[in-house]
Amino acid sequence: MNTDAIKRLQEAKAEAKQNPALAAALSGNFDLEKSELLTKISQAIHGRGQQLAEQLGLRKKGKSFFCPHPENHAHGEKHPSLVVDNRTGRFRCFGASCGISGSLVKLAEELGSSDPWGTIVQICGISLNKEEQHHLENLRKKDVRW
Ligand SMILES: [Zn+2]
Repeated sequence: MNTDAIKRLQEAKAEAKQNPALAAALSGNFDLEKSELLTKISQAIHGRGQQLAEQLGLRKKGKSFFCPHPENHAHGEKHPSLVVDNRTGRFRCFGASCGISGSLVKLAEELGSSDPWGTIVQICGISLNKEEQHHLENLRKKDVRW
């Protein structure tokens, strides 16, 4: 393996920590069709995680957001304590007694969506072919966390 290939693999492994589809691919446990849907969603989120979080109804102040669970914050949330990675859409609340974190799908759920997967697909403006719709149904049914 040349130096470039090693570097690319290291980058892929670093990114895989944020991307289950890629992680599955690297581990050899690769469900191609399911991964294609997740990859499509990842690509749609890429670079606009914060904008999508706002569309989900999260309130932004400066570079951070107010947590959807003020009840987890002992003295209320005077300063916004939740951050959203613009690239991956993953979020984390840094409130000491809170600490919720996860993907935009999880965030949609935290904000009360009864169909978090469908909500994300919709606000990302993704159009799914028949096969992908079927996979989306599977993600809903299996209650997959991403
Ligand atoms: Zn919180």
